[in-house]
Amino acid sequence: MLPDLPFILNQEALHNGQQRSVIRELFDYGQSKGREIGAENIFDFSIGNPSIPPPAEVQQAFLKLLQERDPKALHGYTNSAGDIGVRQTIAASFNKRYGSNYSGNNIFMTCGAAAALSGSFRALSEEGRNNEFIVLAPYFPEYKPYIEGQKGKLVVIPACPPDFGIDLEEIEKRINPDTRAIVINSPNNPSGKLYSEQELADLAKLLRHKSQEYNRPIFIVSDEPYRELVYDGKVAPHIPAIYEYTIMTYSYSKSLSIPGDRIGYALVAPNFKGHELLFAAIGGALRGMGYVCAPSLLQHMVGLTVDIKTDTNTYDLNRQLLYKGLREIGYEVLLPEGAFYLFMKVPGGDAPAFSDYLRDTYNVLAVPSDSFGCEGYMRVSYCVDTQTIKDGLKRFEAAYEKWAK
Ligand code: PLP
Repeated sequence: MLPDLPFILNQEALHNGQQRSVIRELFDYGQSKGREIGAENIFDFSIGNPSIPPPAEVQQAFLKLLQERDPKALHGYTNSAGDIGVRQTIAASFNKRYGSNYSGNNIFMTCGAAAALSGSFRALSEEGRNNEFIVLAPYFPEYKPYIEGQKGKLVVIPACPPDFGIDLEEIEKRINPDTRAIVINSPNNPSGKLYSEQELADLAKLLRHKSQEYNRPIFIVSDEPYRELVYDGKVAPHIPAIYEYTIMTYSYSKSLSIPGDRIGYALVAPNFKGHELLFAAIGGALRGMGYVCAPSLLQHMVGLTVDIKTDTNTYDLNRQLLYKGLREIGYEVLLPEGAFYLFMKVPGGDAPAFSDYLRDTYNVLAVPSDSFGCEGYMRVSYCVDTQTIKDGLKRFEAAYEKWAK
């Protein structure tokens, strides 16, 4: 008799594959309910799928590549780190923008930020040791499988309301000889928070001090898929210029509205001794996961659109409408400085119950904050049609009046 199937599977993989994602569940619910009652009757603020089509330059680049490039080269394997011409173009764009001295050899093209993160966590995890990665709540829930999938340990630093800044004291307490890196995600999903240059400089100072104490570098993994989505004239600080032991992970999913196409990179800034080894280890980690190279067509498209980004005006309009509207109703909300999510305090504090109520009573879908590692809030994605915000606000108002009673 053969053993039952679950006993011959990797249990951690099985667990990750079976674990529910509240965001996905809400999104799937919206899709199927929409087929039943009409998509216009669903107010889906659950997921971070860009609502703006890719900039025209993206389509033009694809057409140009398909019409003019040698198809064998265009669709062929590239170097595992990516086409060197494309990587040099990205490096040159950084150098122009930040006065850095990057070369194509510091950039590893990946299938989105997701692969860049997983590869980085694996590269930083020493065999036979406990490898800890700190994340700051509220945090992107996929960090957990990315870290645990590489046998690392996720260490969550509790949220720091009201403005979700960096809690240096708590970080200092939790750093120990097993700490490999702290993940910084600014602008933040889900809070919309953008860390200031000063906050990051203070963090860098602490990490330098702790790296000295334990005689090994503690890295920042700077996860920046929303770097280009910032408002009110703000600019996301360039973290490798603030802290030398930085891996930056990037994705074009949001800045070019192409999340399904899977293209991004890991940048290992050449600011510390041994950076080439870390770069090689990220490549080796991705090789072990079966990533041969990032999609070639997408790499070349990025090479032609390196300084193009989505028009943030629509997101900004949505942001202001939602922020103002929710505040006027009475909700406590945080003004998002970047990304396309708004974090709102749930009246009474029971976020899962309020999310169910919004869904069942008003067909409004928003994600309770428990899945982001903190309780009592709700993430409202505003990468939706502006009309959905206007209609949705009426429902948020009705819900507030009934729920607050
Ligand atoms: N990091 C954060 C904070 C995200 O929000 C996302 C996607 O939503 C990712 C990483 C993964 O990005 P991608 O799907 O482009 O790999």
